[in-house]
Amino acid sequence: MKIRRHACKVLCIGLTLFIAYSLFLVFYTKVTLQKLFLASVQEELRLPLSEWNGTVKKKLSHLELDLQHLKESMKLVMKQQENLNNTLEGMEDEHPVQKAVEVKASETKKPKPREKLFPDSPLFKQWGEDLSEAQQKKAKDLFRNFGYNAYLSNRLPLDRAIPDTRHSRCLQKTYSSQLPSLSVILIFMNEALSIIQRAITSIINRTPSPLLKEIILVDDFSSNGELKANLDETIKLYNQKYPGLLKIVRHTKRKGLAQARNSGWEAAAADVVAILDAHVEVNAGWAEPILARIQEDHTVIVSPVFDKIHFDTFEVDKYDLAVDGFNWKLWCRYDSLPKTWIDLNDVTAPVKSPSIMGILAANRLFLGKIGSLDGGMLVYGGENVELSLRVWQCGGRIEVLPCSRIAHLERYHKPYALDLTPALRRNALRVAEIWMDEYKDMVYLAWNIPLQNSGIDYGDISSRIALREKLECKTFDWYLKNIYPALKPIRDIVGYGRLKNPLDGNVCLDQGPILGNTPTMNYCNEYSSQNVYYHLTGELYVGPLIAETNTDDRCLTDPGSGEKPTLEPCSKAAQNRLHIYWDFKPQRALKNRVTNRCLEIKKSNLGFYMPVLQTCTTQVWTIQHTVRGWGAN
Ligand code: UDP
Ligand code: MN
Repeated sequence: MKIRRHACKVLCIGLTLFIAYSLFLVFYTKVTLQKLFLASVQEELRLPLSEWNGTVKKKLSHLELDLQHLKESMKLVMKQQENLNNTLEGMEDEHPVQKAVEVKASETKKPKPREKLFPDSPLFKQWGEDLSEAQQKKAKDLFRNFGYNAYLSNRLPLDRAIPDTRHSRCLQKTYSSQLPSLSVILIFMNEALSIIQRAITSIINRTPSPLLKEIILVDDFSSNGELKANLDETIKLYNQKYPGLLKIVRHTKRKGLAQARNSGWEAAAADVVAILDAHVEVNAGWAEPILARIQEDHTVIVSPVFDKIHFDTFEVDKYDLAVDGFNWKLWCRYDSLPKTWIDLNDVTAPVKSPSIMGILAANRLFLGKIGSLDGGMLVYGGENVELSLRVWQCGGRIEVLPCSRIAHLERYHKPYALDLTPALRRNALRVAEIWMDEYKDMVYLAWNIPLQNSGIDYGDISSRIALREKLECKTFDWYLKNIYPALKPIRDIVGYGRLKNPLDGNVCLDQGPILGNTPTMNYCNEYSSQNVYYHLTGELYVGPLIAETNTDDRCLTDPGSGEKPTLEPCSKAAQNRLHIYWDFKPQRALKNRVTNRCLEIKKSNLGFYMPVLQTCTTQVWTIQHTVRGWGAN
């Protein structure tokens, strides 16, 4: 026993000496190589000395930062080795003979797969096969804090390569040598330090250095310990290599992402600002298309194309080019490319877009002139649609640039809020009240909020209304007709919300299983699967309000026979003359205009209520909200 323990100690000391020796070798080789190899390459490339110095300095400091990272990783590995040794020693004490047998056996057999401690955790679905139990626990903890695999991030190189996802025709594009300068702003709240470092590294490596004026970090009052002294230290290190390149602005209370972006904008000094999330890796040639386009037209707000970094494996998937849009909840989505762009037959051409996702680049002064971001937006969401409406309605444009690509980490969950719904809803109402004129009701309807006395405080909007007047902005009607015709307002909805039958006030009409077309009665809940929208013209939509060109809302339908009602895509149902028109008023029967059957409820064999179509009895329905006094008498 004692001999084994002694041998282990010798092994540890040996390992430490070996690592120290390796580190020494790496440093020594680095210096020698700098002298020999770099001199010959410089000779070959015949670069002017100043330019050469810049390039070399850049490469060397990356090497240095990577070494720093490597050193940290090695420290971690040694620490884990130490823990492992301690555990093994403990085990030896408990089962000395058994352990010796196991060690012998492991020399001949393949190690058996590790046990998964968290088989249900999304983190371990595609990743983590070979981790020890301690490592799995560590990774799980980090995942809970950040919503992505920070354990893996801490072990990946800061300057890792990612696939160049640009179309080959982007590579043939050339740009002026006199492009405007760029401030890059990275905002964050509780990100892993290695994530921020990788973003910075990608920006330094993949932006022409004469154009990159500064990188501004905005900390929206993170509580994460490593973003304090460690981050300050990291910034110092970068600034030793690139004097003045990195700046940091720290909020002393949480202000939300719109104000974080504004703080970055206020600190910026270059011609153009690119405002990014801190969990990105910019791709090759990302900056030139942005700078060139904004130089050409200073009123364009641009978006790069996003690729996806998986939250678990950190693999990068290419996303197809699309334009940015939103639905009536003002939640963002991708829309198809406009025909006018396709007809241009140039895959590198900017694409006119109704909206922007959040990450953006703009002429710094123009963005200020139109009011940067609405500082009245809280936490998250809506600020991108607010900016989009303001830009279009007040004389600017929004475009997606196909040749500028950024890989963006899509988290599994957000570290700053368990449920974003209250913030999204509140911010959406703010946008509706400032920008959407008579169409604002659509936002209330989509969120299932009463049109009057909603009880939701969307803050003071007077300064934003004043800004709208000062900038002499166009109406939302103009925006819908000219910029976003795919969004279809509906004018004749007179009742909406939950549809209940007084026989049992606990159950509500529900669209039922997602892919099915059979409505059900379910316990009332907050989800939009229980929204209904009754039109003066007789249709009754069931499920979330869609109201757009390419997707259909679903209409309550009497199929004519059998007792089960169905839900059918409204436009097709109308064309096929299905029975989708109903007579209804609050507290009255819901009766099909053609078949004269009523929607009623009846108990199934199992004792649950279900909706049925039958000869009308005395059953009636109530609807949660009414519009403009409909059904009052
Ligand atoms: N953010 C912030 N303060 C907040 C909430 C978010 O600074 O209160 C930052 C966050 O760190 C991120 C950016 O805003 O850099 C966008 O948020 P997120 O990435 O979670 O949104 P997504 O990209 O998933 O829509
Ligand atoms: Mn993000």
